[in-house]
Amino acid sequence: MHQPLKQRPIYLDNHATTPLDPRVLEAMLPYFSEHFGNPASVNHLYGWEAEAAIQHAREILAGSIHATPEEIVFTSGATESNNLAIKGVAEAYLDKGRHIISLATEHRAVLDPCRYLERLGFEITILPVKSDGLVDLMTLEKALRADTILVSMMAANNEIGVLQPLTEIGAICHQHQVLFHTDGAQAIGKISLDVDAMKLDLVSFTAHKAYGPKGIGALYVRRKNPRVKLAPQLHGGSQERGIRSGTLYTPQIVGFGEAVKLAMTELESETQRLIELREKLWQTVSILDGIYLNGHPTKRLAGNLNISVAGVDGQALMLGLQTVMAVSSGSACTSAKIEPSHVLTAIGRSESLAYAAIRFGMGRFNTQDEITQVAEKTVETIQALRGGLKNT
Ligand SMILES: *Cc1c(COP(=O)(O)O)cnc(C)c1O
Repeated sequence: MHQPLKQRPIYLDNHATTPLDPRVLEAMLPYFSEHFGNPASVNHLYGWEAEAAIQHAREILAGSIHATPEEIVFTSGATESNNLAIKGVAEAYLDKGRHIISLATEHRAVLDPCRYLERLGFEITILPVKSDGLVDLMTLEKALRADTILVSMMAANNEIGVLQPLTEIGAICHQHQVLFHTDGAQAIGKISLDVDAMKLDLVSFTAHKAYGPKGIGALYVRRKNPRVKLAPQLHGGSQERGIRSGTLYTPQIVGFGEAVKLAMTELESETQRLIELREKLWQTVSILDGIYLNGHPTKRLAGNLNISVAGVDGQALMLGLQTVMAVSSGSACTSAKIEPSHVLTAIGRSESLAYAAIRFGMGRFNTQDEITQVAEKTVETIQALRGGLKNT
């Protein structure tokens, strides 16, 4: 590969997507060429090879969350998994009720299917979060009704990194016999999930947030205690036991399996390393006045630091940083207009503090050296925007 002529910005947007780990690419390559078979071809070697590779990936994925391989349904990513979980449950449990509970800080891929169902006559309760970004369990308990069919609450937030108390939420849902779905897009390979201990009934995954390829994900669907019923949202060749039709994408699935395997092996050491990087960055930038940490200080992803900067313009802040680092701001482009992040407003940030937010998403390939540079540049930029006045 050619070296880029110009220095590229340091990649710190690992919540948006992660680079493909070279070891994952290596595992995938043969499945683009000699092992091209359709895993549904049961009469010859080409099909068997593909099927064996997929089965292997399925076992890795299931093993990582203490599930069984039959409970894994491959999809195109977390967006599809969330849609399948929420709409699939809504359609299959019409007899029981039409009430669904979710959380204000969920990803659009959860909130929008909920809104869609609302238009079809379902009742949706969107719970607020506390100022640290976590759900209030008492509020959840009070929101449950006899006709509640599903609670959908994410494992780890993609903006502020906070980890919802899945075990506690799961216990409450289980006690009320309400299904519990979690969007685990940011959690896979970063925190350990246990579908039994946490009483998870449905979990959405995606590979590209964990150093795997884009365009592949999975949905865990519980088969026992209780057996979750799900109405398919794609009909066709009955792959994935009829829950999700379509020819399985072998190279991507192989990459997904490899990515999860690597992440699980390195989970503890990598978590420790990322916490050190995050603490270093926080210690440097928090010397300045008017820096606010967004989200719970410790119940968060190791690689996530999200701060709001008082007294600066959000857009100017991004412009100042982007030659040196690739980070995200506290605004989102929804239908061509810029709006403050719904997550930051949900934790009570003012509009200006939401705009002037920086999400640092550190990952596997970030080094100490990079974080030193990023910390210095951030401090320098904020000081310059505040008129070059030195903070004391
Ligand atoms: C990235 C992300 C999604 C969407 O995943 P895709 O695989 O890109 O569809 C959903 N939820 C969360 C929390 C995410 O971070």
